[in-house]
Amino acid sequence: MQKIRAAICRAFGEDFTIEEVHLRAPMAGEVEVKIAACAVCHSDFSYHQGGWPAPLPAVYGHEAAGTVTAVGEGVSGIAPGDAVLVTLVRSCGTCPACINAHPANCEAGNHAPDGPITLPDGSPVHQGLDAGAFAEAVVVDRSQVVKIPADMPMEAAALISCGVITGVGAAVNTAGIRPGDDVVVIGAGGVGLNAIQGARIAGARRIVAVDLNPEKLDVAREFGATHGVAGEGKPWQEAKAIFGGRGADAVLVAVGAAPVYDQAVRYLAPGGRLVAVGLPRAGAGSSFQMLGVGRFAQTITGSYMGDVVLERDVPWIVDLYRQGRLRLDELISGRWTLEQINEAFADTRSGAARRNVIVFGD
Ligand SMILES: [Zn+2]
Ligand SMILES: [Zn+2]
Repeated sequence: MQKIRAAICRAFGEDFTIEEVHLRAPMAGEVEVKIAACAVCHSDFSYHQGGWPAPLPAVYGHEAAGTVTAVGEGVSGIAPGDAVLVTLVRSCGTCPACINAHPANCEAGNHAPDGPITLPDGSPVHQGLDAGAFAEAVVVDRSQVVKIPADMPMEAAALISCGVITGVGAAVNTAGIRPGDDVVVIGAGGVGLNAIQGARIAGARRIVAVDLNPEKLDVAREFGATHGVAGEGKPWQEAKAIFGGRGADAVLVAVGAAPVYDQAVRYLAPGGRLVAVGLPRAGAGSSFQMLGVGRFAQTITGSYMGDVVLERDVPWIVDLYRQGRLRLDELISGRWTLEQINEAFADTRSGAARRNVIVFGD
């Protein structure tokens, strides 16, 4: 049991309070990590706003990196002193999803109601997104951490844990983009920029970014988009003109606004794949014509956490970063202390930020 500082959400939409909480030692199969950096992801924001049902009080934060400080019984392949990413992908290794190499869809549901965090009076604090990394330390399942090089900057590494694997994985793993494919990415925020990077890495021919904000389209070009289209009116017509009259082989929706899905199928070429990445709030619906989907053998599929296999995908993503082929540092728009978390969330809410990162001192 150790005492740590954490950002607690006590009421949805209200400011976080920085409080001292208790973190129990890692049990069998668990790892304790001292957090060095944790980025603010849109999912943290959605939970904080009460967009998805969850218990309170809670600690959010799941896009993190740090150093292992202790391991529980039976943990192998990781030891105190190792630099690691901390993710929300908790997997059992034995369910049908896991044995088919889709651990992000793990069906085990081994998400203990009694997490490792408690208030000083002993009452439980919900470990939001199975991580709770807006805190000085976390205790998570072994499957949620993956080793990174010791000299990797922690702020850049933290981004890989969610936004990067979600976007790059959606393009590479889920959409299966091949050299020569024409691609549309709707939404040029943190995840969208990484979907664009993934499409570029996979060899896409033309990558059209669609966003309402013209400044984001400029940023999208820096990350590999070949064209930008304003997301007003009938943007699919403009995209098809760019593709010489044909639709897109892959359309990746990287925004959580449900109405965007009403339009997304309109961008598709015959045989094209629509990949749903952005998560609308609970209860939000969408409607679109199914006729073309059947007639033109199109695919509509979801991608959760980029369908990542951490031990397979993180090492190559790290290498591409180190070779200058994948941008991470440029994704960071602000650095904040834990005490400044409410300002960091306000800045994320404004929509202008790429990624705000909470950085912890020694
Ligand atoms: Zn996230
Ligand atoms: Zn599983």
